[in-house]
Amino acid sequence: MNLFAPINKVSKIGPVFESKLKKLGIETIHDLLYHFPHRYEDFSDLISIEKVELNKLCTVKGKILAINNIRTFKKRVTITEAILQDKSGAIKVVWFNQPYLVKNLKKNDEVFLSGKAIFKKNIIYLSNPVYEKISPITLHTGRLVPVYPETEGLSSRWLRIILKSVLVGLKNKIPEILPLEFNLLKIEKALWQIHFPESLKLAEKAKQRFSFEQLFLIQLAVLRQRIRITQEKSVSIPINLKFIKRLVSSLPYKLTNAQKKCSWQILKDLEKAYPMNRLLEGDVGSGKTIVATIAALSTVKAGYQVAFMAPTEILAKQHFQEVFKLLKNFNLDVGILTGKEDKFYSKKLKNDFIEISRKKLLEKTEKGEINVLIGTHALIQDKVKFNKLALVILDEQHRFGIKQRAKLCKQKNIIPHLLSMTATPIPRTLALTIYGDLDLSLLDELPKGRKKIITEIVKPEERKKTYAFIKKELKKGRQVFVVCPRIEEKENDNSNWSETKAVKKEFEILSKEIFPEFKVGMIHGKLASKEKERIMKDFKNKKIDIIVSTSVVEVGIDVPNASVMMIEGAERFGLAQLHQFRGRVGRSKFQSYCFVLTGSHSTKSYQRLKALKQAETGFVLAEKDLELRGPGEFSGTRQWGIPDLTMQSLTNLALIQETREKARQLLQKDFHLKNHPFLKQKLKNFQENIHLE
Ligand code: ADP
Ligand code: MG
Repeated sequence: MNLFAPINKVSKIGPVFESKLKKLGIETIHDLLYHFPHRYEDFSDLISIEKVELNKLCTVKGKILAINNIRTFKKRVTITEAILQDKSGAIKVVWFNQPYLVKNLKKNDEVFLSGKAIFKKNIIYLSNPVYEKISPITLHTGRLVPVYPETEGLSSRWLRIILKSVLVGLKNKIPEILPLEFNLLKIEKALWQIHFPESLKLAEKAKQRFSFEQLFLIQLAVLRQRIRITQEKSVSIPINLKFIKRLVSSLPYKLTNAQKKCSWQILKDLEKAYPMNRLLEGDVGSGKTIVATIAALSTVKAGYQVAFMAPTEILAKQHFQEVFKLLKNFNLDVGILTGKEDKFYSKKLKNDFIEISRKKLLEKTEKGEINVLIGTHALIQDKVKFNKLALVILDEQHRFGIKQRAKLCKQKNIIPHLLSMTATPIPRTLALTIYGDLDLSLLDELPKGRKKIITEIVKPEERKKTYAFIKKELKKGRQVFVVCPRIEEKENDNSNWSETKAVKKEFEILSKEIFPEFKVGMIHGKLASKEKERIMKDFKNKKIDIIVSTSVVEVGIDVPNASVMMIEGAERFGLAQLHQFRGRVGRSKFQSYCFVLTGSHSTKSYQRLKALKQAETGFVLAEKDLELRGPGEFSGTRQWGIPDLTMQSLTNLALIQETREKARQLLQKDFHLKNHPFLKQKLKNFQENIHLE
């Protein structure tokens, strides 16, 4: 048996179980071994029958004297009754609704039973105990019993049996990947102890080993990547203080300290002769655009081109207008390229917009005449060629695939610097691990004078009251966003969806019934881009008071006069996304409000919404999200494919630092891991499943 063999090589695993395991992400024997229990049931307290106490978990060992099924006709349940005897005495055992037990357990069988004794109708009996026939290594009773995350049709009982047979089959065949001097539990022992621990202490030691191992692998991957990058060549862009000062002094506001700090970090990176790979993390409204623009200006003034990519057309247009405004007096050409349309603008910024054809724009880009090209995914088409691209800026980097990023960065002669930006904060520890402290810039300060957005969870019966409040805001001249989870109502409206608001219907209701005296607009992904653009423009120019939309307003849209964000069916959105919606308001001196509406009665979704109400910054919210959703489900991590155990250890800063240091030392001695072939193989395998920036 080979560690990396597909799972169907294990006897007892056919196509049915194979596909069930696949749902858990288990495809190889190795994956299976690394599918760890999330807790243990303590059935280790083996006692003689005379010592059984009421209502206390215990395990007894004995012989079955009798076993029978009894039907109770009134309640229509089958009761299995048995008598278990050991040297000290005998006890009655009762199972409910498991008639098949009599096929597995026969008179005279020697078994372990784990469960609680109860007293009812004048007799004491063991109620629904877990059973297991006696064998040298027990799996389900008489020990710390592993309990695995449940998936339909894959019981912990089944997993235990399979895992044991795999572990036995791989005896002495699991190579150690970590250097021995790390002084951790050896791999094979650790695998046994994490699945079938002799004691909680050993289980803990095993867990420590694997936490260490996984963080260590991440660190190796990150450090190797970083070292490789520093060996690549990019261009050094001198810091152009004259122009930067001119840009900064032209702003109608003062930069925050965080903006200054981050801009400086970026400019220092750009000076280096190897490619920057930096993430600028900043809450919505923290002012990332100006920071990016400072970097762009410095790059352009050094004679190079900049590509600025946004995930949606609306955002690309907005960036274009913003950057255009900021760079107005610097005599530059800024172009915009998006997917669907065939009109493109470029501008000698002193004059008005000049419309040019796409063909012309591409030609100018290739000649190097366009200084900054802003756009959507359209920027990564093969036909878009730059002359001297030295800086790539990605807004909302998580929206882009790794491959897309790589493509844009692969230019014929220069490897451009990469500045990624995100308003979806990931917990600090996770960021530190994945990006390392060197490559992370945090905009952890909002511009002064921003008022806290008042967030309220609105119950269905408070809807009227909320509309009345919104009407007052509208009368004051403010504008309103209403976000719905869906575009249209489902045709066969089953009860699940009936409470889910849909944009089209909501548009009807709001415009005709609730706010007939105001102008209501609607926007969603199915509209033509021209139409979307027109509507957004109308909203920005206050020709529309209320805009009903799907999640298209999620990122970046800037309409400072809007003071209310109303989110329907809020339980259908992730916390990070809700925070993004909320960030659409509170962009001016007006007090802003975020109303979250939910039809869900689950405590979990209520807790999440409460976290949104309480957390003011995305960073706090991200930590909370991690806590509430549990490591496995944390929004950012699917993307990275990070195992649960690692997620848990990401709160352990000391371990993160230790693994980083050890990884650094190892790579210093053996960058190519020639002396660590198993570690090398494991790292390769690990990197295929995990995606680091
Ligand atoms: P985000 O980080 O969400 O992309 P933006 O760059 O869109 O934020 O900035 C949000 C708004 O804040 C813009 O209207 C911008 O002009 C303004 N802004 C940026 N920096 C400052 C600052 N230091 N002081 C005041 N307003 C600022
Ligand atoms: Mg932005």
